[in-house]
Amino acid sequence: MTHKEKALEAVRILKEHVRADCALESGADPWKLLVMARLSAQCTDARVNAVCAELFKKYKNAAEMAACDIHELEEAVKSCGLYRTKAANLKAMSEIIISEYGGEVPSDMDALLSLPGVGRKIANLIRGDLYGLGGIVADTHCIRICGRLGFYPETLKDAVKVEKILDPLIPKEEQTEFCHRIVWFGRDVCSARSPRCQGCPLSGLCDHYLAASHTE
Ligand code: SF4
Repeated sequence: MTHKEKALEAVRILKEHVRADCALESGADPWKLLVMARLSAQCTDARVNAVCAELFKKYKNAAEMAACDIHELEEAVKSCGLYRTKAANLKAMSEIIISEYGGEVPSDMDALLSLPGVGRKIANLIRGDLYGLGGIVADTHCIRICGRLGFYPETLKDAVKVEKILDPLIPKEEQTEFCHRIVWFGRDVCSARSPRCQGCPLSGLCDHYLAASHTE
């Protein structure tokens, strides 16, 4: 089986078994998703959802966050960790969205990457989830699981390299949902520490599992 065939089969199987919604509860608001994605670095999605439920009562849009008191914003996002950098990024990105883009989050990759704190993972999330442009969101779950499946060595942890490997394997129109499904699958089945391989629907495709079976 080629990697392309394996990828298509993984897409098909995950569709049957795993939900496809985004774990961040942004209400499909581009600016809110951008804020939440930035806060989610080294923080759980559950905490980001809880923090943002309050945060978005205080700052309802990019204009309000752009005009905020930075210390109040830091306090509001403190429990997400790295709060000084995150707050500075949120305020600065909101200012740019107002001044450069008339309050709209851009869909262009280079424009997104020019926003403070936005890397390819966040840019692909925004482009795929909100603008239907696809993109591999190479987060920790995606990197780990696709390495276990055998699309690249499990030791590879470079998100940009992973994106470049997976992009030609997974059809554009499937990429966004595939990456959302991988997040839920990584939490519920293929966790970092104790993957539940027995009964895993992807076990027949999984190099990690097949290698472990052969050494037993
Ligand atoms: S078989 Fe195990 S390692 Fe492979 S995808 Fe399933 S849970 Fe993960």
